[in-house]
Amino acid sequence: MTSQTLTPQTSPSVAEDTFQPAVFDQHVMATYGRFPIAMERGVGTRLWDSEGKEYLDFVAGIATCTLGHCHPAMVEAATAQIRKLQHVSNLYYIPEQGELAEWLTTRSCADRVFFCNSGAEANEGAIKLARKYGHTELGIEAPIVITAKSSFHGRTLATVTATGQPKYQKNFNPLVPGFYYVPYNDIEALKEAITALDADQRQVAAILLEPMQGEGGVCPGNPVYFKQVRQLCDQLGILLILDEVQVGMGRTGNLWGYQTVGVEPDIFTLAKGLGGGMPIGAILAKSHCDVLRPGEHGSTFGGNPFVCGVALSVCKTLEQESVVMNVRSRGQQLREGLKALAKKYPALCEGVRGWGLINGLVLKAEADLVALDVVKAALAEGLLVIPAGAQVVRMVPPLVVSEADVKEAIALLDRALGTVLA
Ligand SMILES: *Cc1c(COP(=O)(O)O)cnc(C)c1O
Repeated sequence: MTSQTLTPQTSPSVAEDTFQPAVFDQHVMATYGRFPIAMERGVGTRLWDSEGKEYLDFVAGIATCTLGHCHPAMVEAATAQIRKLQHVSNLYYIPEQGELAEWLTTRSCADRVFFCNSGAEANEGAIKLARKYGHTELGIEAPIVITAKSSFHGRTLATVTATGQPKYQKNFNPLVPGFYYVPYNDIEALKEAITALDADQRQVAAILLEPMQGEGGVCPGNPVYFKQVRQLCDQLGILLILDEVQVGMGRTGNLWGYQTVGVEPDIFTLAKGLGGGMPIGAILAKSHCDVLRPGEHGSTFGGNPFVCGVALSVCKTLEQESVVMNVRSRGQQLREGLKALAKKYPALCEGVRGWGLINGLVLKAEADLVALDVVKAALAEGLLVIPAGAQVVRMVPPLVVSEADVKEAIALLDRALGTVLA
């Protein structure tokens, strides 16, 4: 420790709880481009920073805080669970994990669940599962997983390789073998890819897609495309894996993103919204591809009593409070408001894309403006939004957002766009 880090405590002129970004940056790796504020507390859709400034939260920890901040059901579940049992590892049965798995499988097309800690870890496991399925069920020596260009599947080596965006892969060579990329929403390109791989003696075991490309710019999957992909997978006997890390758990206006594109996957993954802010991820599989056996996959923290107890409270509340219905009506309201803004600022805005409560305001490339400029202007107005790529301003509020919240968000974004234009 350097003497500099002690300064805040020894200097009487600096309050002990004053947040100092410079001290933070001295000790934490610079892996994120952070906004120069620190959040201190939150309630519902509101956050307050260390200076006491209030924000309307349309980021929700990146589509994660399903029930907003400090929802009483989560506070109660977390408090009760930490008093009872926190962690034991998967050496023993974890009843909370079983209950959460039952909730998920009785409400989805999946038969069994594996729990882990993040979206990347869930996708990594799904890729392992697909490879084993390729080896043992399809007799493929070196199974290929096809993914889409502009996709996002995580930051581990395999998932960053699966991610069809070179900007995330730069400087991390050598990447993991066994992936192949196709344009999204293009069935002919997918068929051609499979033919080309076949001719090259490279056999496909699975196709991994997002029902909507979230990070890639809030690009909805085309239901016609997904139906054709499903048919193709059935014909070839290969797996359809859907990455629902961002769009699962009600965000699209259906409980699962696959319902929104109208197909059932063989495997799908969850993370972000599942724990409402607790670190949890999951692989959900139908029984015919539930092929991982003891010793082949695992996670020390995966599905521990604490996170599962809290995630279960999120799931139950989602149902009890008819949150998915709220997603539909508030989503519609938000899109109408955004469309009106796009009309009001035609020099800046191209249009609006989205489903439920994952929506993007698409900026005009020729406006010489990037989404980050709008995000910064909104932040100054007290509204939190995030970019999805360079040209899209993404809004992923808590799913419990109210009519008044949406109205206020539109008004704040209106002011932010006005500032940017000026
Ligand atoms: C966020 C995200 C991931 C990665 O999740 P982490 O929890 O950050 O590892 C993977 N896939 C999609 C679609 C995501 O949105």
